[in-house]
Amino acid sequence: MRYARVLFTLPLPEPFDYAIPEEMHVEPGSVVRAPLGAQERLGVVWDVCEEEDGLRELKELYASYPSPAFSKPFRDFIDWSAKYTCSNPGGVLRMVLRSPASLYPSKMETVVLEKPSTEAPKRLTAARERVLEFVKGNPPMTQAELGREVGVSTSVVKGLVDLDVLGTDYRPIDPPYPVPNAEGQGFELTDEQESAAEHLRRRVREHGFNVSLIDGVTGSGKTEVYFEAISEALRADPDAQILILLPEIALTQAIMKRFEARFGARPVEWHSGISDADRRRAWREVAHGRARIVVGARSALFLPFPNLRLAIVDEEHDGSYKQEDGVIYHARNLCVARARFEKFAVILASATPALETLHNARTGRFDYLRLAARPGVSRLPEVSLIDMRSEAPDRGDWLSPVLVRNMADVLSAGEQSLLFLNRRGYAPLVICKACGDKLKTPGTESWLTEHRYTNRLVCHLTGFSMRRPAACPKCGARDSLMGVGPGIERVAEEVRTKLPQARIELLSSDTIQSGDDLRALIHRMEQGQIDVLIGTQMIAKGHNFPGLTLVGVVDADASLKGGDLRAGERTFQLLSQVAGRAGRAEKPGRAMLQTYDPDAPLMQALAATDRDSFLACEEEMREMMGMPPYGRLAAVILSFPGEDEAARLAKEFGMVAPNADGVEVWGPAPAPIGVLRGRWRWRFLVRSELNVDLSAYMSVWKAALRLPAQARLQVDIDPYSFL
Ligand code: ADP
Repeated sequence: MRYARVLFTLPLPEPFDYAIPEEMHVEPGSVVRAPLGAQERLGVVWDVCEEEDGLRELKELYASYPSPAFSKPFRDFIDWSAKYTCSNPGGVLRMVLRSPASLYPSKMETVVLEKPSTEAPKRLTAARERVLEFVKGNPPMTQAELGREVGVSTSVVKGLVDLDVLGTDYRPIDPPYPVPNAEGQGFELTDEQESAAEHLRRRVREHGFNVSLIDGVTGSGKTEVYFEAISEALRADPDAQILILLPEIALTQAIMKRFEARFGARPVEWHSGISDADRRRAWREVAHGRARIVVGARSALFLPFPNLRLAIVDEEHDGSYKQEDGVIYHARNLCVARARFEKFAVILASATPALETLHNARTGRFDYLRLAARPGVSRLPEVSLIDMRSEAPDRGDWLSPVLVRNMADVLSAGEQSLLFLNRRGYAPLVICKACGDKLKTPGTESWLTEHRYTNRLVCHLTGFSMRRPAACPKCGARDSLMGVGPGIERVAEEVRTKLPQARIELLSSDTIQSGDDLRALIHRMEQGQIDVLIGTQMIAKGHNFPGLTLVGVVDADASLKGGDLRAGERTFQLLSQVAGRAGRAEKPGRAMLQTYDPDAPLMQALAATDRDSFLACEEEMREMMGMPPYGRLAAVILSFPGEDEAARLAKEFGMVAPNADGVEVWGPAPAPIGVLRGRWRWRFLVRSELNVDLSAYMSVWKAALRLPAQARLQVDIDPYSFL
């Protein structure tokens, strides 16, 4: 008897067995529905097996979907990802199979077209004549579309169809995407770019697993160079599919245009901002191998490409590749893992690669391509430090007089400046002058941020918000609440008083709600309609503003304060990226960093634009402490909706940690965010030697204690967030 082992899109640890009905065609990888308990569920045939005696009473599969089967390497990748991230394979499969509707072929619709040999109708009205004229040489379209195009009512078109003067045909509602053209022309590459491009072309042609890092300063042509690899993949294989992962999808529109210009077709988009219909269409076309170039956010990594030849992870160091809830994974790392199973080439690109990536490149696991120069006239900005101890701002202000003077000079020269501060709102903290209370989010240990534009207090962690109260909620004193510290709204207020003639705009997730808003703002900036742009890390990425010559970093020390493993690295990446916004065009740019610790090695390295010696220093420290990439790390958060019970459970869980060579367990300790949405949180940190399978260790530990149903245990392998 043949039977199918079905993995459901549910957090279950393994597949279940089902009999295959006689008439049903299924193969390993087929997407099916099968009974589970009282319900019928979506799953994938993980394997088809034979059983000699056939004595087991198995329930039968209900149905098999008309969608291509998932390949064995892809299924292996799903299994591997589940093991690596200490989650269930069904949980990973659920990220692959989100909408069952995309498993059916596209619905069809009727379109109208010209008939080669029909006589004109007897009654040829002017409207009918216009329709007949229009269909000649135009593509088929629906009756409604045709009516709209010509400017007549649909009934005129319908009349001509009924008279058999116009023909009809069917077409899918979601037509296939246009095919990209491999032969689109790019720039003439510089020698350095050409040798990197040639290396990548060769790697793509090899059609095997390999990873290359393009490490090049902003504007050195990394995108141009990986375009060459895309062209080569399209040339080498008429069915090749290519995936490009980008961190900040709101910012992809500029690059989408660049793709279109180069490959003659807009790439397929995949991110949380697309409509359900677009999502269905994209998934289906990817699964059938007809979506050829896909640009997406981290979740695009789980699309069922049958023929991936090349994947590119742009800005590979970016923190947004890490998914922090549900299945916790890092898209760059899993992309490399997928490439190993499905045998494709990976390109990682960054101006400030992650330390782990550089380590892999230097030790030969990844190919290492460097682009040192910016083509043409553009130069890297000069970076200087402002010592806030000697160049202190006036009381209650945040901008040093030197920075303001430089901004004034830039303004009078008709150029633009940009101020960077990674804090939304007006003030990151609100305290009561009467009783000293710091306002917190109910049920969460997180301070409320004051937003003046909306007159609300907002929690950036949970999204909770409330109107700014007139009196202190704790002691009842009136008019006693005071915002402490700067957010971008407060900095804007200061610029307005100091440079009253400047046109100022803000850029943060509060002011920019959609891709359209962002495009409009970028356009205003490019047109020189903004003198000072003030923004959060949304401005750090990818824009080239020809008139921007001064970048001011309001608080260069800010992101160092968290003190976690990557704080230094992240600060360096962010600040050099922000500084890189200045002077991309003909005019040289400058970046000025306000700091209270100008002698810190990190600040010195930024000022000297000496990334490599900074990284060497960081690397040495990691090696000494046995931290990644010289060791492995996992973080555990155990939470429970009750203070004492949470503490007791954490202690108990700590007691059952297996004793293993090369593994150290620290904790339990209260998490930095001790209470979140009414749950008390405790954390452990686990460090192991490189030769330890830390995922396997964590799975054993997880299984060692039965936790009550309300407890939640989150294991994060290779953690980025330590909150
Ligand atoms: P990166 O991805 O490294 O930031 P891009 O590929 O976006 O760099 O290139 C930066 C700018 O320089 C772009 O406007 C690009 O069109 C231009 N550029 C890159 N390479 C060349 C070249 N060889 N000749 C002319 N312009 C180039």
